[in-house]
Amino acid sequence: MAETYHCLSLFSAGLDSILAARVLMAQGLKVKCLHFVSPFFGDPRRIPHWERVWGLDIAAVDVSDEFTAMLRGPAHGFGKLLNPCMDCKILMLTRARELMPKYGATFLATGEVVGQRPMSQRRDAMNAIARDAGVKGILLRPLCARKLDPAPMEESGLVDRERLYNFGGRGRRQQLDLAKEFGLTELPTPAGGCLLAEPESARRFWPLLKHLESPAASHFRLADEGRQYWAEHEGGQYWISIGRNQAGNERLEKLLAPGDLVFKTRDFPGPLAVARPLAGPWPDAVLADAAAFFASYSPKATRTGGPVAVSVTEVGADARAVEVTPCRETPLAWAEPQWDDSTKARNCQNCRGGAE
Ligand code: SF4
Repeated sequence: MAETYHCLSLFSAGLDSILAARVLMAQGLKVKCLHFVSPFFGDPRRIPHWERVWGLDIAAVDVSDEFTAMLRGPAHGFGKLLNPCMDCKILMLTRARELMPKYGATFLATGEVVGQRPMSQRRDAMNAIARDAGVKGILLRPLCARKLDPAPMEESGLVDRERLYNFGGRGRRQQLDLAKEFGLTELPTPAGGCLLAEPESARRFWPLLKHLESPAASHFRLADEGRQYWAEHEGGQYWISIGRNQAGNERLEKLLAPGDLVFKTRDFPGPLAVARPLAGPWPDAVLADAAAFFASYSPKATRTGGPVAVSVTEVGADARAVEVTPCRETPLAWAEPQWDDSTKARNCQNCRGGAE
């Protein structure tokens, strides 16, 4: 028979999420931690390590597809960058609620602390999140529960309210003291590690939201790798990712999808690039322009000063060679995405600009 648990606890691997689970476990409750994974957060490879050092029982939950679908139009808008924190929490709690029967759990927990973050952890926002996720009455926040009205699992006696906490605000002292009490010797870094809240990643991801109606998780994974360049030609958008080094080239190769074009300089050392056609095959003019731009990242090819061969292979098809003169400033003017442009465009949409 499958193992059953009292509680499913959302687990980001941040200190608050560790403590929330440990506070409940200290009461003798069985807790399954859920570690959500998407192109923007989550690192399931580290689960065995975390289980060992923090004494937790953790399952990975992949939400890549539903998260990227939500990212196209989060109902509560974005934070300072591309982080849709309220919708993200609603999505995770909804998914956790749906998983309760699988684990036999009767309630959910999070490491939220009232007033810790400007938007998503204000008391009214926390209530709205619980309401929209359908978890009112089954959600406990062990670190700040005593600042809130007693929840049903406290009233029933399943959870001892006296052994929960009343943390509030942005300070970390209480959490660090509690970690010490639990004997946690390895502490996570305070940052949550969500790429959507980092300027460099948001800059890379934004063109996908701007130009694609339905970007997939695999698009975001590719946008997170290598140098990113975009160009426009006759109203169409063209995108290429160029590896920065050998390890980066290998990571790009692992992200290849059917229809992708792989660029390599045929007779000279140089990086690898992946172009992902967004709306049908690339016109020859775009292909040649991209090949010339790409070849300029091979110093030896550039030094020849003359035409070089770039092999372009469509995944699952034969390679073809394009003769080009390496050139960094081509007619299509390949450019890295700029955050300023992104911000302007975002403000035209359903964005609260800096509310988080
Ligand atoms: S920072 Fe990222 S992972 Fe955290 S709540 Fe916001 S969107 Fe979700």
